Amino acid sequence: MKIVVCVKQIPDTTDIKWTENHTINREGVESVLNPLDFYALETALQLKDKLRDVEISVVTMGPLQAEFILKRAIAMGCDRGLLLSDRKFAGADTFATAKTLAKVITEKIPDFDMVLCGQFAADGDTAQTGPSLAKQLGVSLLTYVKAVDFQDSKFSATRETETNIEKYEVLTPVVLCITQGDYEPRRPLIDGFIRAKNTNIERLSCSDIKMCDDEVGLKGSPTYVSRAFTPNIEHAGEICINEDTEDTVRKLVSKIKEYV
Ligand code: FAD
Repeated sequence: MKIVVCVKQIPDTTDIKWTENHTINREGVESVLNPLDFYALETALQLKDKLRDVEISVVTMGPLQAEFILKRAIAMGCDRGLLLSDRKFAGADTFATAKTLAKVITEKIPDFDMVLCGQFAADGDTAQTGPSLAKQLGVSLLTYVKAVDFQDSKFSATRETETNIEKYEVLTPVVLCITQGDYEPRRPLIDGFIRAKNTNIERLSCSDIKMCDDEVGLKGSPTYVSRAFTPNIEHAGEICINEDTEDTVRKLVSKIKEYV
């Protein structure tokens, strides 16, 4: 069985610097693995624990420094790391990101059974890449997946929305977007770190996956972020505690009048 996990490195800071294209300036910024992608990795590893012959490939598109998140995934127990890194990929919107990820998957793991993504990335936070990837790959999609299981030779997925918990039988190939589960993703053990150190990460450029310049990055993006800024919080607001309701309402009304 072949599982692909897409992981994204995100800046480990709220003090984000922007480029002139309104994309994040990732150069020299401490980065971390996107939190929900840990649950996507753990979901794949739990299936690997349960089933025989499971190979987990982890893919990321990002600057060369993103290699460390692939090493971390391999230390957790994944088998293969593919790093899509090329200046031409920079500034990609979710359409171009998904198109590039779909291309590397069809080129390098064409017989995949399952692609797992996090439900959303903590920086871009559009939650569009997973669904767009399913469209590009021409496979079915399930979002807000909290757990995946394999019983009686069938895959099942538990989906948690704001209102209810749903159970689905899942046919492969499929893209699943994973949310936070009721478990802690595993921490790598020392032999995992040693294995990761000895595992080569496959670095792939635009030409390695046979894509044209105008299909990727800013050139391949039909949308762009026209303005990005960190809102400055002028004041933290005021909390009325245990005050008489009438007084609180009077205070609120006078505050609102100040702003309108
Ligand atoms: P999401 O779609 O929220 O990510 C969901 C999952 O997709 C992730 O958990 C991960 O599993 C996978 N994934 C996402 N990116 C990658 C990657 N590079 N490599 C491997 N797996 C990945 N783009 C837009 O098109 N529209 C926008 O409005 C937009 N706003 C942005 C705002 C900010 C602050 C930033 C930093 C970027 C924004 N982008 C936007 C660019 C966007 O970050 C990239 O297109 C990105 O690769 C996917 O979008 P996302 O971060 O919203 O990820």
